[in-house]
Amino acid sequence: MPRPIVATIDISALQHNLAIAKSHAPHAKAWAVVKAQAYGHGLERAIRAFADADGLALVEVDYAVRLRELGWTKPILLLEGFFDADDIPVLAQHQLQFAVHCDAQIQILESVGANAQFDVHLKMNSGMNRLGFKPQVYRAAYERLQKLGCVRSITMMTHFANADDAANPDMPLAEQIRRFKAATEGLAGEHSVANSAADLLHAELAYEWVRPGVILYGATPGGGTAKEFGLRAAMTLESKIIGVQDIGPGDAVGYGSRFVADKPMKIGIVACGYADGYPRHAPNNTPVVVDGVRTGTVGRVSMDMLAVDLTHIPHAGIGSHVVLWGDEPPIDEVAFAA
Ligand SMILES: *Cc1c(COP(=O)(O)O)cnc(C)c1O
Repeated sequence: MPRPIVATIDISALQHNLAIAKSHAPHAKAWAVVKAQAYGHGLERAIRAFADADGLALVEVDYAVRLRELGWTKPILLLEGFFDADDIPVLAQHQLQFAVHCDAQIQILESVGANAQFDVHLKMNSGMNRLGFKPQVYRAAYERLQKLGCVRSITMMTHFANADDAANPDMPLAEQIRRFKAATEGLAGEHSVANSAADLLHAELAYEWVRPGVILYGATPGGGTAKEFGLRAAMTLESKIIGVQDIGPGDAVGYGSRFVADKPMKIGIVACGYADGYPRHAPNNTPVVVDGVRTGTVGRVSMDMLAVDLTHIPHAGIGSHVVLWGDEPPIDEVAFAA
């Protein structure tokens, strides 16, 4: 018998969450973001689940090709652009759209003939200081691209540091918007600025395209719970109790003896650890549901096991059903604890 740990992906929940994302931006087209193999949920499932998306966006050139091989015919966008001049023929062959975020990429495009035709997304660094051209050089970059025979269209793109925390004093959302608007004023093309948080919380930022990612999988970036937004858990991670230890005051649990009991307790050992993707740095009392009852982790997460408190769940024992995340407990609560 295999270890009792199972991750179940609910395609209808993915579909539902895309519909929620679209309902917050009803006049915009939506890129469903599927980087990192659809946030770990699998590209094959993503293709089925996100058939209603206007395009799929990711960062891996090889996985973009895989999406074409799997039969996705609608647009595909590479959010970090290409990485090397050798990528260009692949982009042309598979009609991949891509971000352009630095001079080195424009230089490569300047050596490409007009045989290939690309829809490019010119990225502005409006304050996050990750990828993109600063506002003061954005227009020059736009004009360089506009001159190129291989550039068919230019979408103006930026990314927000704090769409879920608009008043963040270190980079308020409004300041990034101000910079983006000022630097793109009068330039022809579509606009694409909204990640999940902006999509859910700032309808005015939808423009022509939104780029929801994490909400499609049932997590929220902040500013409310998944349930409040009507999002459903795409993944349920379940396992079983495979061991029980009765301990007393002064007894310690797990590596580093990070948890020490101050009373008699019943400890359950769950077949799930950090090798299974559970966060190793989850602290004591990270939520877990055992036989339908909420409890919490105890001590450090091991590679293939973790411990939970069963003291208040007398009927629980070896074989009891454990949910690490799903409808209950929501992944957001696990993530927040960790
Ligand atoms: C990852 C990513 C997104 C999606 O972000 P979420 O916060 O998961 O919605 C959107 N745009 C870009 C450029 C990204 O890299």
